[in-house]
Amino acid sequence: ENYHAVLTENRKLFNELQELKGNIRVFCRVRPFLPGQGAPDTVVEHVGEDGELVVTNPTRPGKDGLRQFRFNKVYSTNATQAEVFSDIKPLVRSVLDGFNVCIFAYGQTGSGKTYTMTGPDGASEEDWGVNYRALNDLFKISQSRKGNINYEVGVQMVEIYNEQVLDLLSDDISQKKTLGILSTTSQNGIAVPDASMYPVTSTSDVITLMDIGLQNRSVGATAMNERSSRSHSIVTVHVRGKDMKTGSVLYGNLHLVDLAGSERVDRSEVKGDRLREAQHINKSLSSLGDVIFSLASKSSHIPYRNSKLTQLLQSSLGGRAKTLMFVQLNPDATSYSESMSTLKFAERVSGVELGAAKSSK
Ligand code: ADP
Repeated sequence: ENYHAVLTENRKLFNELQELKGNIRVFCRVRPFLPGQGAPDTVVEHVGEDGELVVTNPTRPGKDGLRQFRFNKVYSTNATQAEVFSDIKPLVRSVLDGFNVCIFAYGQTGSGKTYTMTGPDGASEEDWGVNYRALNDLFKISQSRKGNINYEVGVQMVEIYNEQVLDLLSDDISQKKTLGILSTTSQNGIAVPDASMYPVTSTSDVITLMDIGLQNRSVGATAMNERSSRSHSIVTVHVRGKDMKTGSVLYGNLHLVDLAGSERVDRSEVKGDRLREAQHINKSLSSLGDVIFSLASKSSHIPYRNSKLTQLLQSSLGGRAKTLMFVQLNPDATSYSESMSTLKFAERVSGVELGAAKSSK
């Protein structure tokens, strides 16, 4: 029927546009309903194996309320952490071949960004998110290549809060330093020269570093003011590899970014600190969108300088660098409008915009 014809047409358009765009991949992950939530109405109508997502407007049941999206991948709510990581493993490993890679998690607070990047609180190895798995994988592969290519793997963790960059691996937890960003990144991509950097040579190093970073991230946060949702956290893995035969040296870096919550804040309802936070978050998320969009549309001017986030990630966005964005969604009907704004952001950065999934002609 018509609906299917439109889907097929959109699919063709998507594949054509896919050829034109840059190095950004968009993976969409819908978090499951949480225990105790009962069975609220869902807006996620359909998750297709070929990267298709159909969302329905709860106030407009029927065909007219359907909106279709396509991304490089769409996960069903029961996708495991291991499945998700296995899809991005090649990207992570390309860092050891000298590529710069950025992996983001974008979405409203509570949509599963931290779950995807870090895992649930006190995660066992099975529940580990991307950060643990990536660090662990990189150090293991680097060990296995020893003798042929000798690698050094170093890790930094910073947080951007109100346009200030703070060191999450600093010794003195109570005194988080505000850091400067190098305007031009050095060859090895160290964009934040003052942030502590630690080597990773074992799984226990990975766990220790993640623990310190997570602890530092929550310093200063009260229950009422969950700061982690209002700041961007960035784990950066710096890799230096020396080819033992030729003596040549390669550099690669991986940025793992858990972005601040993307929810819109009603300006008439917040004041003071909360308004300032909201404005900074808005500005940095829209700057990120602008940079990725400019790259995808091959614009001659890329507006990296509009936020600390894009400044810091500049060497890893564009050029030969590879970008992947996890777009996180809440499945419930009450999140419909936030989910739509998340999906519109995702469409924009992926450079592919599709029409409504309703019958035409
Ligand atoms: P965010 O970082 O976007 O604010 P969280 O990662 O904290 O969201 O997720 C909100 C809640 O949902 C947490 O309790 C988390 O453990 C749970 N959650 C998120 N994604 C999943 C998932 N894929 N499977 C099971 N629980 C999840």
